[in-house]
Amino acid sequence: MARRESAAAGPGSRALIVDLIRSSGPISRVELVNVTGLTQPTISNIVRRLIDDGVVRETGDTVATRGKPRAMLIINSRAAYGVGIHMGADALTCVVTDTRGGTVGRELVAVPDGGRPADLVDRLAALYQDVTAGLGLPPQSVAGMAVVGPGPVDVAHGGFLARPGQQEASLDLAPALSDRLNVPVLVDSDASAAAVGEFWGRQVSRERTFGCLYMNSGIGSGVVLDGALHRGASSNAGKIGHIAVVRDGEPCPCGNRGCLEQYAAPRVVVARARALPGLAERLRIRPDDSDARAFDVLARAAVYGDEQARALVDESAALLAEGAVTLANLWDLDTMALAGPGFAVAGSLYVTEVRRRLAERAFTREVHPVQVDLSSNPRDSAAIGGAALVLQGSVAPGHGPQVAARV
Ligand SMILES: [Zn+2]
Repeated sequence: MARRESAAAGPGSRALIVDLIRSSGPISRVELVNVTGLTQPTISNIVRRLIDDGVVRETGDTVATRGKPRAMLIINSRAAYGVGIHMGADALTCVVTDTRGGTVGRELVAVPDGGRPADLVDRLAALYQDVTAGLGLPPQSVAGMAVVGPGPVDVAHGGFLARPGQQEASLDLAPALSDRLNVPVLVDSDASAAAVGEFWGRQVSRERTFGCLYMNSGIGSGVVLDGALHRGASSNAGKIGHIAVVRDGEPCPCGNRGCLEQYAAPRVVVARARALPGLAERLRIRPDDSDARAFDVLARAAVYGDEQARALVDESAALLAEGAVTLANLWDLDTMALAGPGFAVAGSLYVTEVRRRLAERAFTREVHPVQVDLSSNPRDSAAIGGAALVLQGSVAPGHGPQVAARV
């Protein structure tokens, strides 16, 4: 394993050790010395503090070597719980995970149309209280809550900016919720959250250059470099759905034209399907079905071999694969995950196309492959990622985002 950290014990050393135990555990103290280049006393001190804080525990197993047996270390899954709420177009999904990213609770509630931001705080607070109370989680065991949505996020105001025709502004969400619930609250984009969730829960090594393509109503991405999410100037990095794929093409609410999202996103595929004579009726897609539901029906038909549905999904997958090549080329990725509700049903078709395109066209294809995997839970990946953002910021501070202070 390559060494990227200096041998000096700095403030980031604790985060580094936690991250190595997360991705490589069970791992011994001696291996941590070898991998980090930190001294044995430094590792011993940091590990002792992590064990005292309950973040890390010894497995009870030892590995026999010459000299004394080595105790093995893992993340204590009950060290803290993270809560993530994903604000989808027609539902709020709340997920609670343990420290290792395992889901311990989930609740989904429908969102009525036209809710005002004040109502949104009420709904989010009620959902949080309902889920944590239902699980019997002591308040001190909850590291915090993340509310994630399509963005753009306004980190300074702890909320989301409006998007014309798609989303009302909901600024000051994080401080309002933190006041109400007395837990740290952060706000972030769904794609960023999903990236951290996949990185954390799949035990992706910090040595990997990791990217996550996220597809829900729109298309986004998140990139994790050296264990930390790349945030950009305003925590709005990775808007791969808004790269132009057609010059002067379809106008997009973002202000650009010809955006990838305007050609490949599920709602566009659904609109094309509805425009084809007889297809919606044949697949029993009703006029009042949400785009998300209609896309699931269409994707299922594509998976089962319906030719018209398959052609529409293939077109979307081909365009998304262009985005995947761009993402991989920009960051020299070696690992990629596909996450988000848009991949929940026909994810295998998208993964196959993305893998094929990267093998043919990625700039680095003859230097190294790009490993592409589908999220194990595409539909909940943003909510799970929200919980992971909270946990990363809590148990491995230095990698995570700023969390609103506990009041
Ligand atoms: Zn756009």
